[in-house]
Amino acid sequence: MTNSRFVAVEEAYKKAPIVPTAPDKTTSAYYGCKVFNRATMRKYLSSDTRRMVYESIEQGVTLDKSAAEHVAAGMKQWAMDEGATHYTHWFQPLTGGTAEKHDSFSEPYGRDSSLENFTGKMLCQQEPDASSFPSGGLRNTFEARGYTAWDPSSPAFIMDDCLCIPTVFISYTGEALDYKTPLLKSSAAVAAATKDVLSYFGMGNEMVQSYLGWEQEYFLVDKDLYAQRPDLVMTGRTLQGHNSSKHQQLDDHYFGSIPSRVLQFMKDLEYEAYKLGIPVKTRHNEVAPNQFEIAPVYEEVNLAVDHNLLLMSLMKLVADRHGFVVLLHEKPYKGINGSGKHCNWSLGTASGVGLFSPGKTTEENLRFLTFMANVMKAVYDNNALLKASIMTATNAHRLGANEAPPAIISIFLGKTVSEAFADLLKSKNVANIKGKKVYSLGIPQIPELLVDNTDRNRTSPFAFTGNRFEFRAVGSTANCAAPMATLNTIVAHQLREFKKNVDKRIKDGAPVMQAILDETRETYRACSNVCFDGNGYSDEWKKEAKKRGLDCEASAPKTYDAFTKKESIEVFEEAEVLSKVELEARNDVLWEMYSKKVEIEARTLCDMAVNHILPVAMEYKSKLLSNVCKAKEIYGDEYKEIAGYELSQIKEISAHVTKAMEICKSVESQCDKLLKTEDMRKQAIGYHDGVVPGMEDARVHLDALEMIIDDQIWPMPKYRELLFIS
Ligand code: ADP
Ligand code: MG
Repeated sequence: MTNSRFVAVEEAYKKAPIVPTAPDKTTSAYYGCKVFNRATMRKYLSSDTRRMVYESIEQGVTLDKSAAEHVAAGMKQWAMDEGATHYTHWFQPLTGGTAEKHDSFSEPYGRDSSLENFTGKMLCQQEPDASSFPSGGLRNTFEARGYTAWDPSSPAFIMDDCLCIPTVFISYTGEALDYKTPLLKSSAAVAAATKDVLSYFGMGNEMVQSYLGWEQEYFLVDKDLYAQRPDLVMTGRTLQGHNSSKHQQLDDHYFGSIPSRVLQFMKDLEYEAYKLGIPVKTRHNEVAPNQFEIAPVYEEVNLAVDHNLLLMSLMKLVADRHGFVVLLHEKPYKGINGSGKHCNWSLGTASGVGLFSPGKTTEENLRFLTFMANVMKAVYDNNALLKASIMTATNAHRLGANEAPPAIISIFLGKTVSEAFADLLKSKNVANIKGKKVYSLGIPQIPELLVDNTDRNRTSPFAFTGNRFEFRAVGSTANCAAPMATLNTIVAHQLREFKKNVDKRIKDGAPVMQAILDETRETYRACSNVCFDGNGYSDEWKKEAKKRGLDCEASAPKTYDAFTKKESIEVFEEAEVLSKVELEARNDVLWEMYSKKVEIEARTLCDMAVNHILPVAMEYKSKLLSNVCKAKEIYGDEYKEIAGYELSQIKEISAHVTKAMEICKSVESQCDKLLKTEDMRKQAIGYHDGVVPGMEDARVHLDALEMIIDDQIWPMPKYRELLFIS
């Protein structure tokens, strides 16, 4: 008899690559065709309206009512020309992912006809019935509903038949209920603080932006196999599974040739992404089998975040067309590399000057060292906060495990920049001031090329990579807005402190460049402990990091405490990004999400044990028992020799089954108890300390059973099937 697993495996092997839908045209022929971008606006909006929209995008000027009416009319016409029938406010609730509620343009007109309607008010504001989105009690506290408001800086786009309008989601009293609001505020804060420091260098009039280039890692798994795994379906990761004998030891998958069915998926995904104006650029195999990466060209941070969220939705849709399911979970398989989303972050001017790129003149190099030192100090002072911004129940499997960045945030600078800072410590005075740019600051020139070639250190969670910082500890499911808003906010805070101190030095009589040089030196001195170029996985580093004052907390729910420390509240409130009330509310949401995720996993695991694995174990055991009986019938007293194998396996199976049952019962009763705990923090810690280890214990027995039981009757696809069929 063939079991359903074999049917699924057979189906998976049979799948032929699907021919991509991308037309036989150059990318530029369809790039951005589903976006209400400037080219589209030229066709649908008057020049006056366009000017107002651009002002609102670039300078944050609020659009007046009549302009909003014009934009809405143009947008509706364009959307209808593109075949859209509905519109939605597209927002980023704290649950993760994105949310949308489609409304039709169509409205009844008279008794028996209808017309398409879309007004300025519908464009600018909506009140979704959002009572089930988490708010950490904010809506209760303020007895107010939430509403969404248009973010003109991220262009509207069309998905399927729906016009999607990127929006923020806030309560009536103005508290942020989403990820976008604090991100936008943090971008404004860091831009303002950066401009102030740039004014020392004669660049105070430049428009400053923060940039993000994400690298999205993911696994693909065949749809038929996925459907056979309750754990993948319910939680996005395998809760049970013996490692396959070959996995990633040979590193033969990394940068290897892309399997043809996967390549077809990638081409189709790129086509869909280009139509939505997502500038995807790079695709390759990752380290683990069936693991891949896609990365775009970097963009302004708010747009980059929206594009990442949009791409994650697209990936799911396109994968389905190709008979795949995309796994965005940080750790779908135990014992195999997990997935991250490296966030390449930088500050730069709209005219193209990267503030983490060394320049050609001494002044440009001082500017480089200044901004570098300030980022380092911000990361040092707020390393616990940065870690909290990327910690989730799912990313906790990567952080601290011996394969991904450790749960300690340090900075890798590379040799060239480390040496430049070492020299800076020795430098003293501004010498030979002869004229505007012909002076020496006693600081080393840093060859641009050398910095570009910075040696790579894969174990560092936060690495300088030539012209940007690569925050590697971010998880693959994450909304990058959380870490990016935190980073922008702490850097804004630090730059303001820096400016205060430089101004004081100038007031005390120091020449401007000398004041900056001295303050940069002191800033670096105060935070050099955050720099670590060694092996971040080693145990020595954990001890050393503690000595250096870096936060080593590895328990996910406890890391969130960093958000509500007095110093953190000050940092967020001063930058006007989040208030104390908002931070506290968001922590409640984080704890709640943590608990819910672990609870779902725990219940799924127990269900798999009791309904899927243990019954098969009993079936196999009963087969072995009947063998023993038969041996006894035929061989009498000698049966133990004949059925020795069966006897030993029966004992092992019985022991594992009994243990697995016991642990599952205890895990379930712990979950039941924790459900009654009202304090969100306590509840999450309970799940972390009790339920998570229980699941690991149960898994040991279930994985052992997989190795004992006849492959013919094992009820679910195994690692070797999930990982190697593509
Ligand atoms: P690697 O895998 O070598 O780290 P990738 O090419 O996969 O590099 O990804 C690097 C990402 O960094 C890309 O999204 C790229 O656009 C982005 N990037 C490059 N320069 C900057 C910069 N100055 N600021 C922000 N992101 C950048
Ligand atoms: Mg890469």
